[in-house]
Amino acid sequence: MMEPMQPHESMLTETEKALARAVLIHGPISRTALTSRLNLSAPSLTRLAKPFLDHGLMVQLEDKSGSVGRPAQPLDVAPGLASFAGAKLTGDAVHVVATDVRAGLLATGTRPLTGTEPASVAADLVAAVRALGVSRIAGVGVSLGGTVRDGRVEFAPFLGWHDVAFAELVEAGLGVPTVLENDLVALAEAERWFGLGRDIPGFVVLTIGAGIGYALVVNGEVVRSPDAGVGLGGHIPLSATGPVCQEGHRGCAQAMLTSGSIASQVSAALQRAVTYEEVLELAAVGDPAARTVVDSAADALGRFVALAANLTLQPAVVLAGDGIGLMSVADDRVRAALAANRDPRATKVELYVDESSFTAWARGAAAVAIQYAFDRIRFDRPGTGLLTP
Ligand SMILES: [Zn+2]
Repeated sequence: MMEPMQPHESMLTETEKALARAVLIHGPISRTALTSRLNLSAPSLTRLAKPFLDHGLMVQLEDKSGSVGRPAQPLDVAPGLASFAGAKLTGDAVHVVATDVRAGLLATGTRPLTGTEPASVAADLVAAVRALGVSRIAGVGVSLGGTVRDGRVEFAPFLGWHDVAFAELVEAGLGVPTVLENDLVALAEAERWFGLGRDIPGFVVLTIGAGIGYALVVNGEVVRSPDAGVGLGGHIPLSATGPVCQEGHRGCAQAMLTSGSIASQVSAALQRAVTYEEVLELAAVGDPAARTVVDSAADALGRFVALAANLTLQPAVVLAGDGIGLMSVADDRVRAALAANRDPRATKVELYVDESSFTAWARGAAAVAIQYAFDRIRFDRPGTGLLTP
């Protein structure tokens, strides 16, 4: 592919973006692997990589392969390049993380919201990020359940928001670029770039916890839809004999799998209030009431995973979310239910479990900030994106 030879006048070209992403996601990566992955000639790669190396965004590592012939000269992102912050908003708290440039965790924190007015939520978020004590934050990502567009929250039911220009409030408070994204899209982006889906072109992300979430990656891209924040996976029927959800569906995904429903079923059986975490502990030691509910949830989850793979024709599923502890007491049962609901002639579904629980959400938001920063690199304007003047 030919690239224009004039100096960089504006944003990165698509090929430059692809190079930056490949080194970020797969680095350290040999030049041979890069030319093959990006379909470039070796001289083109040398020319494309030069400004990244000159500006200190990438480094060329010592060749440790010890092989004779052409050295691999692997490329990587510069160490300590920048830090990012991610924030996940719920109806009553903001969960924040600081990460390195590969979404690796540096610090985490949680702060209760003092109210749900956008200005006060922004102030809580800014305070939570500052309290992380991480310097050189180059960008902030904010994620929440609901629909977002161009830095505005169109609808966020947990906060009661309609059409709130939220990114600019955070940007004003922290003084760094802020990007807003639906929480499931952000989580899927994190899995695609930095997580369990890194080398898988297509997969489903299913989250369990306070709610049920669903996102889809096809051909290496997250499927984006205005319906991403509606929660369309929440009421899929999974059991003919399960409890009833608030909307009256027997055995739907919400009734079978949300932490609230699981805790209240076991509380009713034991005639005392137990939390979701206590249910998992009770199930682990064989309490019959907890075990019954957890096993039914596991059967439903396995069926859900199989349904998702069967209908999307994608061969892998990443399970995540704040209720992921279910897998620690029901992994075998989930996998058995998955197999039972999958045609044996079909590709075996690869099931990956992201155990980072609630942190996964805020890390997803940070991943979106990292993507945004990489797409905004401008060699002609140091001081934008990741480039310091
Ligand atoms: Zn339902």
